[in-house]
Amino acid sequence: MSTQQAVNIKRDLNKDDLIAITGAGGFIAGALTRYFHDLGYTRIRAIDRKPLPDWYQRVPGVECLSMDLSEKDNCIRAVEGAVEVYNLAADMGGMGFIEHFRVECLRSILVNTNLIEAAYRAGTDRYFYSSSACAYNTLLQQDPNVRALKESDAYPAMAERGYGWEKLMSEMFCQEYWVERGLKTAIARFHNVYGPHGTWDGGREKAPAAMCRKVIEAKDTGKREIVIWGDGLQTRSFMYIDDCTLGIDLIMHCDKLIATPINLGSSELVSINALVSIVEEIGGIKLERKYDPTAPRGVAGRNSDNTFIQQVLNWEPSTPLHEGMAKTYAWIEQQYADRKAGKRTVRDQA
Ligand code: NAD
Repeated sequence: MSTQQAVNIKRDLNKDDLIAITGAGGFIAGALTRYFHDLGYTRIRAIDRKPLPDWYQRVPGVECLSMDLSEKDNCIRAVEGAVEVYNLAADMGGMGFIEHFRVECLRSILVNTNLIEAAYRAGTDRYFYSSSACAYNTLLQQDPNVRALKESDAYPAMAERGYGWEKLMSEMFCQEYWVERGLKTAIARFHNVYGPHGTWDGGREKAPAAMCRKVIEAKDTGKREIVIWGDGLQTRSFMYIDDCTLGIDLIMHCDKLIATPINLGSSELVSINALVSIVEEIGGIKLERKYDPTAPRGVAGRNSDNTFIQQVLNWEPSTPLHEGMAKTYAWIEQQYADRKAGKRTVRDQA
């Protein structure tokens, strides 16, 4: 089923029921806020600890709160009256961030722990948790010709240190709140997500945005080379943001998936070298490749096995990588040009 066909979702939600979305100053939750707004939901509360001027998207008519959700009282305020809660707040970034800031990654457990308890006490109907492919056993990801990861591959557990263990533990919270307390929880394991309105510089950006920025920079400066972390042979799959928001909606409102971790990712596997070639083609330039073997590279290979999501939802993310990257490139190019011209970028539009 294509992205367009999968719109008939049975939500037990009125248009004026309150939806709370955390991490909404960031990439995915910002897009999710716009998604529900555009579907006609009139009461959305968006929460992030970043000051409002730093949010990637500010959606008209949405209540925006700047609060640190590792604090219990802020979580209580965030979910007050909410019928559905989507928790996408986490201290995270690309490999450069999660390999160097494990403590920060682990501390995100405070957000989910306080938020799910607050949601349960507030009588929330459904609670969504954004997990990650980093929760999977790293021993299964040591070869670039990786076997795609299926949901059962998270156990026996050997998750990515820091970030991955936090995800695995928070998943367990979601599962036990359903089993012991009857809170309907949904758990999606995202595989790399990319698209416009996300981090593209500053150290937290992920490979697709970083490659776009590097190609744009090379074109701008005339320095026709690109630095690639690792040997470029590491493989990944990348999911376009529109597939991610639709997938969240589908998973959250499927009773067969309550408290059941499920992959939400593309199964189109590419090497980082192939990703660079796609971006070069979009940018209309060929660059000399320099490899940095000392830079963080993550696991050798990772892909999403979509058998389960196909079985349950008859759907899987399907935006072709080239198509999604062209849109992402265009957005980053505009941001780059705006910044260079001294204009306010999306980040400053509040
Ligand atoms: P992001 O960094 O753009 O957004 C996360 C937001 O959470 C940030 O704006 C941050 O300020 C906010 N936040 C962090 N700690 C907070 C706190 N204590 N209180 C309030 N807000 C806080 O990241 P994203 O890419 O949008 O990721 C969203 C979720 O999806 C995260 O849980 C992430 O782990 C998960 N995920 C993302 C990817 C991906 O490829 N982007 C892959 C796997 C999982």
